[in-house]
Amino acid sequence: MRLEGKVAFISGGARGMGAAEALMFAREGAKVAIGDLLEDEGRKVVEQIAEAGGQALFVRLDVTSESGWQRAVAATVGAFGKLDVLVNNAGIRAQGRVEDVTVEDWDRVMNVNAKGTFLGTKAAIPEMRRAGGGSIINISSQLGLVGNASSSPQYHASKGAVRLFTKAAAIQYAKDAIRVNSVHPGPIATPMTEAGRADPKRYEKMVSGIPLGRYGESEDVAYGVLFLASNESSFMTGSELVIDGGWTAQ
Ligand code: NAD
Repeated sequence: MRLEGKVAFISGGARGMGAAEALMFAREGAKVAIGDLLEDEGRKVVEQIAEAGGQALFVRLDVTSESGWQRAVAATVGAFGKLDVLVNNAGIRAQGRVEDVTVEDWDRVMNVNAKGTFLGTKAAIPEMRRAGGGSIINISSQLGLVGNASSSPQYHASKGAVRLFTKAAAIQYAKDAIRVNSVHPGPIATPMTEAGRADPKRYEKMVSGIPLGRYGESEDVAYGVLFLASNESSFMTGSELVIDGGWTAQ
């Protein structure tokens, strides 16, 4: 198994891509902690993992809270003894043009997507150092690489921040054998994109911009995250894994 003996924490693991990663990680031998605001959904993922013979834990976490992160990491280490892998996956989206965005709109998205990634990384590093190393995977977006008219300035800015925060942390902690990489999914069929996929016009417009001609599935991204979590990627740090159906190749 590709994650045998490892302990992983996944923020936003109650649904969407985070849930797919939690299930896949557990199948590959990891003990998995899920941190999310959605308690019912998160506990269901934990049940699914347990029914399949794996070990998992749900922790209620708001990724914008530093003390929340400290409690979440402590609960994970308390239950499973250590921390090897962190996936900073929790995120929120927004739409709008610069002039329509309020300071509150800006702060909400930056706080979850950018500050949440910083706080998760900060809380995980001491435990990873204690474990002799680790792998941190920060979920950015294809919209952290290029602009797009139908998203929002704060989403692009937050995902661009995740991309370069990743490189800064990768360089600072390489000597501790802590690897930090970013993942850049394109449009993926998750609850986050449900409204857009339900509207035929928006669906057609989106799919016509994806060279592979479809939305990605959560598993398409989870396989890439699994690779970065495993020792198979042991010479990779500070890199960007793009899983976008060809969106940014155009
Ligand atoms: P989703 O909305 O289906 O799931 C996101 C999860 O994050 C939810 O369970 C939600 O409760 C949790 N979350 C949100 N705010 C939180 C907070 N403050 N504290 C703790 N948990 C919180 O989204 P998804 O599509 O699975 O997206 C996962 C990640 O991938 C996000 O960072 C998103 O920005 C990114 N992404 C998504 C797409 C896409 O097309 N779906 C594309 C590129 C990048």
